[in-house]
Amino acid sequence: MKFYNTLSRKIEEFVPLNPPNVSFYACGPTVYDFTHIGHMRTYTNNDVLKRALTYLGYKVNQVMNVTDVGHLSGDDDSGEDKMEKGAKKYGKTVWDVAKFYTDFFFKTTDALNIFRPDITCKATDHIEEMIQLINRLIQNGFAYETKEALYFDVIKFKNYGKLSGQKLEEKIQAVRKEVIVDFQKKHPADFALWFKTVGRFVDHTMHWTSPWGEGFPGWHIECSAMSMKYLGETIDIHSGGIDHVPVHHENEIAQSEAATNKQFVKYWFHNNFLTVDGQKMSKSSGNFYTIEDIEKNKIDPISLRLLFLQAHYRQPLNFTWQSARASQEAFNRLKEISLGLKGSSSLTRKPVNFSTKAISFQQQFKTALENDLQTPMAVAVMWDVIKSDIANDEKYYLLSDFDRVFGLNLSNITKEKIDANIIILAERRLEARKKRDFDASDRLRIKIEKAGFKVEDKGDSYTIKKS
Ligand code: AMP
Ligand code: ZN
Repeated sequence: MKFYNTLSRKIEEFVPLNPPNVSFYACGPTVYDFTHIGHMRTYTNNDVLKRALTYLGYKVNQVMNVTDVGHLSGDDDSGEDKMEKGAKKYGKTVWDVAKFYTDFFFKTTDALNIFRPDITCKATDHIEEMIQLINRLIQNGFAYETKEALYFDVIKFKNYGKLSGQKLEEKIQAVRKEVIVDFQKKHPADFALWFKTVGRFVDHTMHWTSPWGEGFPGWHIECSAMSMKYLGETIDIHSGGIDHVPVHHENEIAQSEAATNKQFVKYWFHNNFLTVDGQKMSKSSGNFYTIEDIEKNKIDPISLRLLFLQAHYRQPLNFTWQSARASQEAFNRLKEISLGLKGSSSLTRKPVNFSTKAISFQQQFKTALENDLQTPMAVAVMWDVIKSDIANDEKYYLLSDFDRVFGLNLSNITKEKIDANIIILAERRLEARKKRDFDASDRLRIKIEKAGFKVEDKGDSYTIKKS
């Protein structure tokens, strides 16, 4: 398997530390507002990576955090606390806010058939681990204290910026405005490990006792502490959206490696954004849709998986209702096809006399995954299987086999069954229509009707009913 490692800026052969085991840490949600489908693009791609690795024979142990300690808005830690802001907005306590939005997050991931992580860990349950890690940083000379906070001293970490390739001087420009926040801070890019509940944070509701007085952790430290606790000091894969590269993940590397003197992560896997009108879908811009908006528009959440799979994870994907509806239609067709093929075929049993053509399709699918998780190519192989002339039981077996990675839940669909041969005729007819070969399309329609079915055209798709 090869995929793009943000750290080396190259597509690399994936060699885990302890094959076939894979340690995989995914940055989880900040639970102060509704999870939207932009987040879901990242979590679906993480899920697809995990499924692909499993398909290829690895044993993946995935850990995901839930950021239920408020962290400060903006990359420079200068803003209002996000949890407190969420609590005020909805008139609840910060704990209620965290619980409510955590539940909403998992309701959403379940609706998209995203596997739950093997371990889910809340920041508020790991304050002690964070304090211990900060202590290690103090002992190693990488942290210093001011009246307001404890900071990581970026100048002392010689590889600071290695993930994003950003130079410290460029970083200074970006965070200059923070200088006014804490006059005792040595360098504008120094980031907080621990905030004290003094001064501007005196009313902060969430706080814990620490060797530096009452306070609460900075955002970045939680991921380092929990990743190390559950997966060890060096792990195979760490994922997140591309927005995390320049600050959050850069800081995670600095504080982890400064504490352990070991490489923190071997492969950094970053997902590009789901956009709306070319802008990142985000809570702060207010241009987001939740799973409830999706359902209100009669879109099956699982069909979003198909939409996401059709764009490579490193490319931006622009969301439109039109593309969501097209995905829904394609998904409906897939369900029909799968149902039709189901017949007497067995899901797990490879058909006897599995043909060379079927073997070749399976190989093409595997190659697409191994080549930097080329899901659009893998989806195209699936449609090629459907259109091909291999036996129905081979088709059904391959569809189910591919679905272990796609996660469209095709084998769980139950509904009135339409014969596979009819669906194949309808698929051929759709192809003919796309090529504007109307003679062929008419001939196929007559065949379908003679078999007792009615086919109705719907844009670039169709529906079939018993007539
Ligand atoms: P947050 O709760 O904001 O930390 O986001 C959780 C995860 O979703 C992070 O890995 C983000 O990078 C990712 N994310 C946020 N917005 C988007 C988006 N519009 N498209 C893809 N991923 C996103
Ligand atoms: Zn994180």
